[in-house]
Amino acid sequence: MKASDFDYQRPATLAEALSLLADTATDARPLAGGQSLMAMMNFRLAEPELLVDLNGINDLAGLVDNGDEIVIGAMTRYAELERSDLVSTHLPLVAAALPHIAHPAIRNRGTIGGSVALADPAAEMPAVLLALGATIVTASASGERSIVADEFFLGLYETALVSGEIVKAVSLPKPTGAARFAFCELARRHGDYAMAGVAVTVENTNPITGARIVLFGVGDRAFRASGAEQALNGHDITDAEALERAVGSLAGLAFDGDLNASADTKRYLAQILLRRAVGAL
Ligand SMILES: Cc1cc2nc3c(=O)[nH]c(=O)nc-3n(C[C@H](O)[C@H](O)[C@H](O)COP(=O)(O)OP(=O)(O)OC[C@H]3O[C@@H](n4cnc5c(N)ncnc54)[C@H](O)[C@@H]3O)c2cc1C
Repeated sequence: MKASDFDYQRPATLAEALSLLADTATDARPLAGGQSLMAMMNFRLAEPELLVDLNGINDLAGLVDNGDEIVIGAMTRYAELERSDLVSTHLPLVAAALPHIAHPAIRNRGTIGGSVALADPAAEMPAVLLALGATIVTASASGERSIVADEFFLGLYETALVSGEIVKAVSLPKPTGAARFAFCELARRHGDYAMAGVAVTVENTNPITGARIVLFGVGDRAFRASGAEQALNGHDITDAEALERAVGSLAGLAFDGDLNASADTKRYLAQILLRRAVGAL
């Protein structure tokens, strides 16, 4: 099948893009790497009237070190993040997750903003942003907003973005020296979307403080396992009983099955991955 007819604009500035997207008479969509959107259009799961191509807007691409945070422009491609010294130095959790995203050809085009806006429940970047306590900076014709990741991902392919609003950048706080990170996922083949995954950050290990445990690929969105976080906080990283309580707390959460596995299997996989992640910490 091929996409329905659509119009195409390639603005050179953010203001121009936002003005095109603000026209409520037209069903307009931003085009980033196209790695999900073009497939959705060719399957006619999406039939926008107008594509607003963000690839000509230089201000949306690239990373900067802002002191306490690394700010990544929405149009920054996964491949650039993989090569970035700022990522390898300050964002080891991002670096650990990147090789799990699809394959090099897709990472050459796919963007962090596209992944965040799409909010696929099995995608790595939303989980990583939640685990790092990131902020999503959005822009629309009415101005900018900063939305914490905890309030951005609302459901299956559903985010806090409103009509005409785009992801402009993501802002990730630089972790302190005592912080630790772990990222584990299971996929049928390397590069496939995750059947189950976990991203974990802690501010300190002995005792653990500031644990953020995010599960993905097991529900309608990436979500924090707050019971597991509470079970670990205040205990040493080697405390086996605390780990058992954290793993046990996942039994009480609602998991969704999909074509890959039942809800029960997903719960079991999440428990195994949490053990592995805490072991890795
Ligand atoms: C074979 C294959 C395997 C894949 N495996 C994985 C995987 O394992 N993990 C994973 O995370 N992803 C995977 N992907 C998806 C890939 O990571 C995409 O790049 C990503 O989902 C979307 O990014 P994009 O830049 O291509 O966005 P696009 O496809 O251009 O856009 C996706 C959606 O987001 C909207 N959008 C794009 N940018 C913005 C913005 N700045 N603001 C607001 N809305 C915007 C678009 O309108 C569209 O609705 C896979 C893709 C393929 C084809």
